[in-house]
Amino acid sequence: MKHSHPFWQIIRTVPNFPKADIDFYDITPLLWHVDELINELLNALPDGMIDEVECLATTEARGFVIGSLLSGRTGKPLLLIRKAGKLPPPVHRQSYDLEYGTDTLEIKADAPKSKVLLVDDVLATGGTLKASKLLCEQAGHEVLGALVLLDLPKLHSDIGMDTYAVMNDVD
Ligand code: AMP
Repeated sequence: MKHSHPFWQIIRTVPNFPKADIDFYDITPLLWHVDELINELLNALPDGMIDEVECLATTEARGFVIGSLLSGRTGKPLLLIRKAGKLPPPVHRQSYDLEYGTDTLEIKADAPKSKVLLVDDVLATGGTLKASKLLCEQAGHEVLGALVLLDLPKLHSDIGMDTYAVMNDVD
């Protein structure tokens, strides 16, 4: 059954935001259900995988919120991937296309090298996660995969890494 996950009753779908023909999924109402949110994110990972993860890499802004909540539960440290110009040097930089626009992201080049799990709210075109993976690799980290709350499979093909999602818009 389409949209069977109970979180669909909580998130809001906003048509034509921020542009015509975009269905925007507002996941912020889930922040009133943080325990369930983090339980479901951890359940979306294969058994034992979280034990291999040394660090969570998150992209601003909603990725920071979800990543921080997951870090609080698991004790895993955080790597922040930020919009250009926010992090002090040395940094690595990647530009990429979004579902609605383009953007440039940066990561600090001098963090301890680790096995990272990318964490974000929504996987749409995959541009953000692909750029984030490249940045992690440039900084010497090993990317184990990506964990998202919501996958929109119609908007992307293979994004070149294992992805784990709590829910998608197909089933
Ligand atoms: P993308 O790079 O296209 O995979 O987009 C990923 C980022 O853009 C995610 O971190 C989301 O925060 C945001 N995003 C893209 N499309 C949507 C959408 N339809 N609804 C909500 N957030 C979106």
